[in-house]
Amino acid sequence: MYNTLTHQKDEFKPINESEVRIYTCGPTVYNYAHIGNLRAYIFMDTLRRTLKYNGYELKHVMNITDVGHLESDADEGEDKMLKASKREKKDPYEIAEYYTKCFIRDLDRLNIDKPEVICKATDNIKEMISYVEEILKNGYAYETSKGIYFDISKLDKYPELSNRNIEDQIAGARVDVDPEKRNPYDFALFIKAPKEHIMKWETPWGLCYPGWHIECSAMSRKYLGEIFDIHTGGVDHIPTHHENEIAQCKGATGKIPAHYWMHCEFITVDNGKMSKSLGNTYTLDDLEKRNISPLDYKMFCYSSHYRNKLNFTFENVEGAKIALNRLKEGFQRHLNGEEKANPLEILDYKNKFLDAINDDLNIPMAMGIVWEVIKNPVKSKEYAELLLEFDQVLGLEIDKINKNIELPQEIIDLINLRKEARNNKNWAESDKLRDEIISKGYTVKDTKDDMIVEKN
Ligand code: AMP
Ligand code: ZN
Repeated sequence: MYNTLTHQKDEFKPINESEVRIYTCGPTVYNYAHIGNLRAYIFMDTLRRTLKYNGYELKHVMNITDVGHLESDADEGEDKMLKASKREKKDPYEIAEYYTKCFIRDLDRLNIDKPEVICKATDNIKEMISYVEEILKNGYAYETSKGIYFDISKLDKYPELSNRNIEDQIAGARVDVDPEKRNPYDFALFIKAPKEHIMKWETPWGLCYPGWHIECSAMSRKYLGEIFDIHTGGVDHIPTHHENEIAQCKGATGKIPAHYWMHCEFITVDNGKMSKSLGNTYTLDDLEKRNISPLDYKMFCYSSHYRNKLNFTFENVEGAKIALNRLKEGFQRHLNGEEKANPLEILDYKNKFLDAINDDLNIPMAMGIVWEVIKNPVKSKEYAELLLEFDQVLGLEIDKINKNIELPQEIIDLINLRKEARNNKNWAESDKLRDEIISKGYTVKDTKDDMIVEKN
């Protein structure tokens, strides 16, 4: 696996052969997850499934950031949770609960194998306080009128992950405006809460809320111990969040907390950044409105290696949808086949598939092997079994027949007209279209934002 810490592909050797310990930086639950966020968790799923396929047991922890992630990844701007609380005029805990539920539902819809432990930052404040007390005791932090700050000049090396030295980093940084900070790159461990701040806790330094980075250090240590195997996140975590997690751990224990650091590249949309102002931050629901299922999107993600940028367009994801349908049809042809498979060929496919996934999770290459099996002119149940085995890693549910595939264009047109009527709150028209779909031999089940249409 490619290790951001060593800047090369390293052979994976777990600390404890019987159980691989992993920490994944989870979402900040202030809004719906967009398809870019979800790519990071599809990558997490691939990692989990690949390790399990290799026979490892896992202890995997993912946090839910429900406090402390400011608008910038460093210490600037408002807490994202409080911003959402103002936007929606709701209590931040209510916001967190709602978007956490939506996030878990997204993971389920993507058939993502979930971590063994999913923990909330606000449930672990005590652990964060004692972590910071240790850092202070070891002389790696100091107090200002604004909070407790980590003193990066005390470290022998910073940054550890980025291929830069601190002088270059400081030279490229904006002029820091906080005169109380000892070094421009010092970052907050706990921030003293202004009066109006809703989320705050009693600490030895007064009423405070935690910085984003300390959450992950405290929770990873609590559940996985001081040193564990793999730490994952998105590439945006490398320069600040993960550098600072490493700094904190070195301040508390003198060690780097994980042996392997893996990072997933970004999704772009129409070759540009995804952003609210451009109106291109799609959610799974947005895709479903256009008849793209969550697993179609997962299939689309498999068109690129996790360390490469992936450009999202509706044309590309439509292509993935067609490909997934072909895969399912190909699977069914093998399942219904009566011929005998060649055992040597099966072994060869298995070896090639394993080589691909074990080469830094090379899913595009693994998909190439899957297509070879699908296209094998000998139609055999043994090939269907092999495909199901590969699907333990892919999680595409290739054996589930998608009833939507069978919907004729006439019905799809009626569905789209009815969706439009529902969006326009034209209930009479919507009811008329529902009856028309039913009269043609289909059932229509309405969900909150959508409908499920199936052949009787
Ligand atoms: P957040 O909820 O903002 O903390 O982000 C959750 C995850 O989504 C993190 O792992 C980010 O690295 C990842 N992420 C954010 N934007 C994108 C994007 N456009 N493409 C891929 N991953 C992203
Ligand atoms: Zn984190």
